[in-house]
Amino acid sequence: MRFTWASATHVGLVRAGNEDSVHPKTDGSVAEPVVIAVADGMGGAVAGEVASRVAIEAAVAADPAADLTPGERVRLGNEAVVRAVEDDYTLSGMGTTLTLGLFTPSGAAHIAHVGDSRMYLFRDGELRQLTRDHTLVADLVALGQITAEQAETHPRRNLVTRVIGAPDAEPDEFEVSLLPGDRVVICSDGLNSMLRDAEIAACLEEAESPSEAAWSLVEAANAAGGTDNTTVAVVDVSS
Ligand code: MG
Repeated sequence: MRFTWASATHVGLVRAGNEDSVHPKTDGSVAEPVVIAVADGMGGAVAGEVASRVAIEAAVAADPAADLTPGERVRLGNEAVVRAVEDDYTLSGMGTTLTLGLFTPSGAAHIAHVGDSRMYLFRDGELRQLTRDHTLVADLVALGQITAEQAETHPRRNLVTRVIGAPDAEPDEFEVSLLPGDRVVICSDGLNSMLRDAEIAACLEEAESPSEAAWSLVEAANAAGGTDNTTVAVVDVSS
């Protein structure tokens, strides 16, 4: 199978800087393995920007065809952030999410993630969230203590329970079979905190190309308030 991707990132309308990072930065199309990742950094001053960049660079440093699982790549990203803090104490407290997909021509997405940057599958007009947020509210919803609607306005909805930069951060890992016509989205929470699933699905339905999809989602997030940085990578699957 062939993968055609594009990404878009924007600081939004409120934040002073963009602490998200994405890989690859340039659009492309291949019929061979490709790694696509989004990270959403946090920390004072410029530390969030450093965390997301360091994590992604370490996670994607090896060739996509290398014998590395996505989980191993995420762990390399984690080790790099931990090391960066050890080397420069002014960076202490920084962290980042990391959601990474290894897409293979046999038609699989191998996924690993830590934090609340999401991966979605858009197939036959339906949007399905593939990752489960590592957040307090996602845990409370899973336990049945609050509803998904209550999670959207919960005062502690931004509390992330697993973060890259913590020595013990363990990724969730799983695999999804892909079909021609599938559209996969990896995004920072600037997207899904601003838009409901139906609004995300509408953008994906309308857009002709991954680039159009990624930018229309970023524009929609900003039109809805743009209170956070928004980063979106879109991957189209074809035979
Ligand atoms: Mg964010």
